[in-house]
Amino acid sequence: VFITFEGGDGAGKSTQAELLEAWLEARGRAVLRTREPGGTPLGSRLRELLLHGGEEIGEVAPRAEALLYAADRAQHVARLVRPALDRGDVVVQDRYIDSSLAYQGAGRVLELAEVRRISEWAAGGLWPQLTVLLDLDPAAGVERRRARGGAADRLEAERGAFHEAVRRGFLALADADPTRYLVLDATRPVQDLHRDVTARVSELLEA
Ligand code: C5P
Repeated sequence: VFITFEGGDGAGKSTQAELLEAWLEARGRAVLRTREPGGTPLGSRLRELLLHGGEEIGEVAPRAEALLYAADRAQHVARLVRPALDRGDVVVQDRYIDSSLAYQGAGRVLELAEVRRISEWAAGGLWPQLTVLLDLDPAAGVERRRARGGAADRLEAERGAFHEAVRRGFLALADADPTRYLVLDATRPVQDLHRDVTARVSELLEA
């Protein structure tokens, strides 16, 4: 079973992923909790480049950026996610293809269909059974990250309109695929959200 969490920065994806991991483990399930970008040694290097490359690497062209995320994803799926699924583990992942569609597609200048094509190719066609979208007003997300002392990286510097487009991108993806998506209002209490997540995951595990 492959479950992903999506949403903007500060929406609480990692908190919900951790809670779900503990809930699954308490029920005797082996869990791989992981994230993109990152997750593998190669992925960590790519994450570093993508998020903190700085002036040294120059301005990364949108297609180059999309391919770096795709390279991270290809490595992550091949080395970590597929093997875990093959073992029968539940994979709980922070960000996946939908993040590429929302950030590189909706948020930037690339065609959504193109980003989908390279993402699917990189992932070998692997899609999650469930994607939890923690929907949050971007302004609130920035505040939440700042409040917990989050890093002020280049992404924090990108503002307003971009994050709005990303949010709309996620919501449109969820609208187009309601069976895979569970959309939750990220401003609700953590435990309430967790309860909704586990209700849906229970159905999946019983199916
Ligand atoms: O949530 P996390 O810290 O993993 O996200 C790092 C950042 O990477 C996000 O805020 C987002 O701006 C960016 N990202 C992206 N495209 C992806 C995945 C993440 O632009 N496919």
